[in-house]
Amino acid sequence: METKKGKLFVISGSSGVGKGTLLKKLIEKNPQLEVSISATTRLPRPGEVDGINYFFVSKEEFLKEVENSEFLEWAEFNGNYYGTRQAWVERNINKGKNLILEIETKGALQIKKKLPDSVLIFILPPSMEELEHRLRGRNTEDEETIQGRLHEVRREIECSKNYDYTVVNDDLDRAIIELEKIIKAVIR
Ligand code: 5GP
Repeated sequence: METKKGKLFVISGSSGVGKGTLLKKLIEKNPQLEVSISATTRLPRPGEVDGINYFFVSKEEFLKEVENSEFLEWAEFNGNYYGTRQAWVERNINKGKNLILEIETKGALQIKKKLPDSVLIFILPPSMEELEHRLRGRNTEDEETIQGRLHEVRREIECSKNYDYTVVNDDLDRAIIELEKIIKAVIR
């Protein structure tokens, strides 16, 4: 009997929206979901491990993979390149695995074009005011950086109109339940 193919869930959300915590909890509660590990040219942050958080590669290595059409999608974000390797996605989907890709909007829309069956979910902040408050609360960035991030957030929220679902992260547990409902309805 042929194995039923897995589904591809693409999750995006602007910085400061709490997407990291949300996904971490979602995966802990649903070990049947596999998370894709992207390749990136950005430097590891403290605590990040190569092969776990990302595959950290040089710009030359990345561009060689682009040239060899190894990415299902890739995009430049904040001056760095990020990409999803096609072979890994295909191998796992064919095994029947349900995959989560946590990527930004340009890459997400490329995936939807190539794989119309993929499910795009955008995580929204409760409000722009709340998001601005969270970004400023980090206290690590100057005004120009914060304004740049807010501009990017508005652009991404505009893009979310092309997504299949939006989930508001007003309350962590509630948002997870909503995400689980969407995923269960799709893989049923
Ligand atoms: P960070 O540098 O904060 O880890 O990620 C920056 C942005 O890149 C986030 O919006 C994240 O979703 C996105 N991203 C991570 N991996 C990929 C990828 O493989 N492709 C694309 N298009 N975006 C990615």
